[in-house]
Amino acid sequence: MGYKHVQMPEKGDKVRIENGRLVVTDQPILGFIEGDGIGVDITPACMRVWNAAIEKAYGGKRCVHWAELYLGEKAAGVYDGDYFPEETLDAIKDLTVAIKGPLTTPVGEGFRSLNVSLRQTLDLYACVRPVKYYNGVPSPLKKPEEVDAVIFRENTEDVYAGLEYASGTPENQKLAKFLRQEMGADFFEDAGLGIKPISSIGSKRLVRKAIQYAIDNNRSSVTLVHKGNIMKFTEGAFRKWGYEVAKEEFGEITITEDEVWSEHNGQVPEGKIVIKDRIADIMFQLMLLRPAEFDVLATMNLNGDYLSDALAAEVGGMGIAAGANMADHVAVFEATHGTAPKYAGKDMVNPSSLMFSGCMMFDYIGWPEVTQLIEAAFEKVVGQKVVTYDFARLLDGSTKVPTSGFADALIEAIERA
Ligand code: NAP
Repeated sequence: MGYKHVQMPEKGDKVRIENGRLVVTDQPILGFIEGDGIGVDITPACMRVWNAAIEKAYGGKRCVHWAELYLGEKAAGVYDGDYFPEETLDAIKDLTVAIKGPLTTPVGEGFRSLNVSLRQTLDLYACVRPVKYYNGVPSPLKKPEEVDAVIFRENTEDVYAGLEYASGTPENQKLAKFLRQEMGADFFEDAGLGIKPISSIGSKRLVRKAIQYAIDNNRSSVTLVHKGNIMKFTEGAFRKWGYEVAKEEFGEITITEDEVWSEHNGQVPEGKIVIKDRIADIMFQLMLLRPAEFDVLATMNLNGDYLSDALAAEVGGMGIAAGANMADHVAVFEATHGTAPKYAGKDMVNPSSLMFSGCMMFDYIGWPEVTQLIEAAFEKVVGQKVVTYDFARLLDGSTKVPTSGFADALIEAIERA
């Protein structure tokens, strides 16, 4: 494929998909998008850490060939004001795997969030957020080490689908009339109206991905989070379709929580993944009080949005929360925080959110040794209270270092491992 501004590295192989599986050579080409604002601080720092860990893990046998792609302000500079160039989307599809820093949503009429556009254009239907505790990280919980969950949040449906009609508009009046006259609905005269589509296709592909992840990563349970007691035909249907996909497609390896009690006296049979469900509001409480009971979580869009930030706060906050947006194979890993413009270019912020998103990426391509080295180095450095400003204000007696200095400390720990 010929590109106008994307320079593909001279060496390396694109990630391919064969028989539904990723094929990654020892010299893959992976895409990276620097990101706006603090992207200039965190992305180069993370690339140094990732490259050091790859070198340490594989001693030159494996190496990533990075291809820079452009979105956001940097893209606008390269592509004559275009923040969302078609070429970048083509390159992500072509390379299959990419990682991105945060992107500014330009303020003003007519600009959609670039992140939302990216998810929708590439149909990245699953937002995946692992939430786990690293030793030394400041946490409000008594036993934060019990938190080790991976949230699969549906990314395309629900009240985020954009089906909203403002109070007083002709569209709103038309819909209100239909609902009142044809459907017998009753609501206040000036109500703004929104529609919450939840489909079996959307629900099943999300739950399928969550269960497959649980299988691939030896996880013990998948919990369907919903508010089906109130919204029976949307949230309740998500729960129903979730159980269906578990039974129909993974019946050999899954068992429901009810079956564990009714047929196995509360003991999970060896090798089985338990499928259970919890109502969304109680889920927030349970993740504070009994996080050890939960492993993989599958949620719809809105519940997952709230839940993933709340859980991130239990184990260090947005500065270190990792994430990815994934389709069946194409995956874009990303820092979960924004561009923090007041810190841009100041070499101050915590690079760990992007760094751990990179770890997810290396796990995804089958290079877990990179993640293991980085996680061990992180615990060592943070354990010595060598931290960026955000952790320094929470940890007494810490040594505050800049973004680049934190990366240096991690690289030193990796090289000594
Ligand atoms: P933000 O950029 O996430 O920053 C909010 C605050 O979070 C910062 O002021 C800082 O808190 C803390 N923070 C963020 N990243 C940090 C890091 N790496 N290390 C330490 N602390 C960090 O949110 P925002 O100010 O609401 O949004 C700014 C822009 O980012 C907007 O244009 C928004 O659209 C965009 N955004 C993009 C994404 C994305 O690309 N995925 C996500 C969210 C927002 P303190 O000031 O307390 O230190």
